[in-house]
Amino acid sequence: MPLQIVHHPDYDAGFATNHRFPMSKYPLLMEALRSRGLAGPGALNTAEPAPAPWLKLAHAATYVDQVVSCSVPEKIEREIGFPVGPRVSLRAQLATGGTVAAARLALRYGIACNTAGGSHHARRAQGAGFCTFNDVAVASLVLLEEGAVQKVLVVDLDVHQGDGTADILGDEPRVFTFSMHGERNYPTRKIASDLDVALPDGTGDAAYVERLDTILPELSTRAHWDIVFYNAGVDVHAGDRLGRLALSDNGLRARDEMVIGHFRALGIPVCGVIGGGYSTDVPALAARHAILFEVASGFA
Ligand SMILES: [Zn+2]
Repeated sequence: MPLQIVHHPDYDAGFATNHRFPMSKYPLLMEALRSRGLAGPGALNTAEPAPAPWLKLAHAATYVDQVVSCSVPEKIEREIGFPVGPRVSLRAQLATGGTVAAARLALRYGIACNTAGGSHHARRAQGAGFCTFNDVAVASLVLLEEGAVQKVLVVDLDVHQGDGTADILGDEPRVFTFSMHGERNYPTRKIASDLDVALPDGTGDAAYVERLDTILPELSTRAHWDIVFYNAGVDVHAGDRLGRLALSDNGLRARDEMVIGHFRALGIPVCGVIGGGYSTDVPALAARHAILFEVASGFA
């Protein structure tokens, strides 16, 4: 059984190539997965848009309706970082549906990944920081509502703090949110997760992996987790335009091996999402995101 991957061609909303958000990383990631033999017909699943009732489990009904009808107030669009037209609206619904689908596949097969997702700055009231809907928060609440899971762990290793996820799930005792991020990165006003670890600028592979190695066993003894959502943002990489940490490709690989290996050894399903990654060298960026899939396929 190959690694189950959820994808949709419309994850790419077709921004201009010089846009601050490197939208072309989505098709390039698929190319990278194909060239690595990871995107065969038995591996690919097509994402479907998340229906509004799912989105409203995590977000204010007014905001969901605004995104769906492409009538988001300009002030909020500015905080998101782009206007929410039909392609962006569809993309946000697809990426969220994709994480729900990947979570269901993870429950069935042990591990699955979405080729988008990790939009962790989207808060209950509105989107922010290139994030329209918070796919991981939506997926957690959908699975809980259905009774498919009782306890959810979010392991967010994107270089930015998971403020939106913390905002949405802060009062939800069935979900534990863990964020390890660069201390001096966006957002300046962080919203406390259940566990936050802030790392100094320039933290490299060795210190990063060592820190993670002490935290993972603490997380897995806190509860019996029915699923782990893993945000494998690659903006921790030294070559990233926004991150201030200094991981190498090998560091990324070691990180992903450590997280996935830890939870799979305990029999806990892992749903991987790609999270952030910003670079003008988009093929190099796509190759960084492909590492999650290479590592995950070793556990499928
Ligand atoms: Zn990020």
